Amino acid sequence: MPTYGFVIDNRKCIGCHACSTACKSENEVPLGVNRTWVKYVETGIFPDVRRHFQVTRCNHCANPPCVRICPVTAMYQRKDGIVEFDPEICIGCKACMQACPYDAIYIDPNNGTAAKCHYCGHRTDLGLEPACVVVCPVHAIISGDMDDPMSEISHTLASNRVTVRKPEQGTAPKLFYIEGNDVTMHPTAVERAPQTFLWADVLPLHPGMKGEQGKQGDRYTGRKGNTQSPISNLQSLPLNGPIQIGGKMAEHMVQVSYNAQHKIPWHWPVPAYLVTKGIGTGIFMLLSLGYGLGWFPFEAATFLVAGFISLLMIGITTGLLVFDLEKPERFLSIIFRPQWRSWLARGAYLLIGFSTLAGVWWLIELGGQIGWWGQLPAWGRAVFLWAGLPLAGGAAVYTAFLFGQAEGRDLWQSSLLPIHLLVQALMVGSGVMVLLDALTAATFGQVVLIAFATSLMADVLVTFLGEFGMSHASGDAAKAAHEIKHGHYKNYFWWGSLAVGHVLPLILLMVGHQLLSGLAAIPAIFGLYVFEFAFVMAPQEIPNS
Ligand code: SF4
Repeated sequence: MPTYGFVIDNRKCIGCHACSTACKSENEVPLGVNRTWVKYVETGIFPDVRRHFQVTRCNHCANPPCVRICPVTAMYQRKDGIVEFDPEICIGCKACMQACPYDAIYIDPNNGTAAKCHYCGHRTDLGLEPACVVVCPVHAIISGDMDDPMSEISHTLASNRVTVRKPEQGTAPKLFYIEGNDVTMHPTAVERAPQTFLWADVLPLHPGMKGEQGKQGDRYTGRKGNTQSPISNLQSLPLNGPIQIGGKMAEHMVQVSYNAQHKIPWHWPVPAYLVTKGIGTGIFMLLSLGYGLGWFPFEAATFLVAGFISLLMIGITTGLLVFDLEKPERFLSIIFRPQWRSWLARGAYLLIGFSTLAGVWWLIELGGQIGWWGQLPAWGRAVFLWAGLPLAGGAAVYTAFLFGQAEGRDLWQSSLLPIHLLVQALMVGSGVMVLLDALTAATFGQVVLIAFATSLMADVLVTFLGEFGMSHASGDAAKAAHEIKHGHYKNYFWWGSLAVGHVLPLILLMVGHQLLSGLAAIPAIFGLYVFEFAFVMAPQEIPNS
């Protein structure tokens, strides 16, 4: 069985885009998206300038994270090493886009499914070379079987020094560059300034953002306003001073002048789902622990109301998950053809298991209370609540492992994330129970009050001293964290999350008035949402290509 790979010879590439257009034609790639493109980066100061080209595409990784995260096997690895996709199966969850550290995947605007370079698998099966290889006028793209010692690609690899993009990701790319250049290989080596782009569109980073030349220009260049940013003033000038690459000072001017920028895949439904899932699982965990350990008495109406809110929140969570799919009608594929290594599939089963068990308990409890059948005995209730505890806990924290599989987002690769999600679930779950105590005749009492205050403080510790107080494992993670603490999301972080989401609820709790204590849940939930929004959005703004 062959093992296919690519070599891109940067010594030969003339940046003609023939490969990009041949790929579009061969694979009927719609307008606005690309399976392969030629990134341009310019360096130097006039007249000593140079434009560097980099043919950019899927690396057909030997260890592909996009395949691991796909919940339905729509992204898969062929035996010959080609990473292929199946638009008939894809549900459009966009998880593969988060997993790919190379920005290789896009959502096809015509059918809402993930797509990327597939090594022209249909041609390869017939013994033909990919369209980009055939069309390249200078033979800068070499394809073939890397296991065949007589193949051209094997000779090329054996006789040249080659590099790959982001080797530290451990994906084992099978796309090699001869004379790969630091400024093109490292997406964050150069700040993106829309003013320096030749003819490429620059997509808005944030929903509703207009006038990219102005607003993004502000962010990237520190210049104010939209009116005084003529391209001619910026080209050939360093935007932010000399660029440091690998500890060395790069040439004076380094600017990206062409790239295929991809849209941010996940927006508000993901942070919203984290909040509703936290409330639903947090309430159930506290009901289980409270009842099982005798922290508060069983009171049927109270438990039924709390159980209903928990189930409602899990229902909304599921609705948000389905809503965020590009192919919501295929949602059931996660259940009927799960890819078990994916935490999206595992999470769906955890949510289903938890909501089924909690739903059955709640219905039995309700039926017993309104006289449809006998009341659930104490031991039966204990069985349901204890059995639901690990399921609720699993449903609360599984997203940390899903984020961990999203290897294209370094900030999400945090070992504190499971404990953080657990603390957040207990925080908003206990907050809602304190609110129930304040607004109804619920009798959860002091225990949930203590749980609320403790988890608020624990969340401050984990967030501000843990995840954002420690140094980050990579430059990309540090950039995203900086964007949250000091950049575009600083108000979300400091005002929304810390001041409104933590300090205000703690002050309200300290007042000691029951209604004010209950109302403290509202800013806590709001604070969690804005924190999750920043946490989900900022890493997606760090370019991967
Ligand atoms: Fe291609 Fe990205 Fe998947 Fe690697 S992770 S095989 S580059 S799509």
